[in-house]
Amino acid sequence: MDSGGDIVKAHGLVAGAAGLARRLGAAVLDLLYPPVCLHCGAAIAEADALCAGCFAQLRPITAPLCPRLGIPFEVPLGPDAVSAEAIADPPPFDRARSAVAYNEVARKLVSRLKYGDRPELARFCGRLMAAAGHEFWESEPILVPVPLHRYRQFERRYNQSTELARALAKLTGLGVDPLLVSRVKRTKQQVGLTAEQRQRNVAGAFSARTDAATRLQGRGVVIVDDVITTGSTVKAVTRALEKAGVRQIDVISFARVVIGHGLS
Ligand SMILES: [Zn+2]
Repeated sequence: MDSGGDIVKAHGLVAGAAGLARRLGAAVLDLLYPPVCLHCGAAIAEADALCAGCFAQLRPITAPLCPRLGIPFEVPLGPDAVSAEAIADPPPFDRARSAVAYNEVARKLVSRLKYGDRPELARFCGRLMAAAGHEFWESEPILVPVPLHRYRQFERRYNQSTELARALAKLTGLGVDPLLVSRVKRTKQQVGLTAEQRQRNVAGAFSARTDAATRLQGRGVVIVDDVITTGSTVKAVTRALEKAGVRQIDVISFARVVIGHGLS
């Protein structure tokens, strides 16, 4: 019995040593690459994305907001009031929500996300998105990242929307289906295009699996994107899902362009 105890103790020692080595490893990494703020480069204590000063520059989008488009209202307009934009051009999806307005700090985070060099960044954005989309999670929808075309995915080996969806899935306990929608047309980058050009650029760019409704087993979908500019991309993904018979479709993004909260 004594020897059994020794084995247990020895195991404990090994596990303890491994834990210590991991902690030392993390400490050594911190010495070599001390965590820095992604926006200003200031040293930060914990491996997070931003220092307190830059975090304070993010503009979270909170109520009152348009229940359809998720754009903030200057003043509360009542529980059922929708924005003039949503009335003039009703979106095909049910609701959209975004964590922050697209400003200089958000722009930097979105551009760093594309390269995936800081894995904690998707977790950071995911936390803010989980809060922004809190009305969505109870019905247990499936998270569907906006796909890249397979050539671009191959070049970059990384899809920032998929990483955001995975981070959100960990926080909400929901499932991710990165194969439900694919990008069937290689589109130009949307940057620098007008709203109308953007819409034309992504028209017919996406296709949902014909068995999408079966795959979802009655659940809805939340499309996940990094940034919403005019909404033409998420609208095109919504139309592809609708074509495949999906009914409940919401949208979540980390950032969105809000008039009056822009880059200055
Ligand atoms: Zn900073």
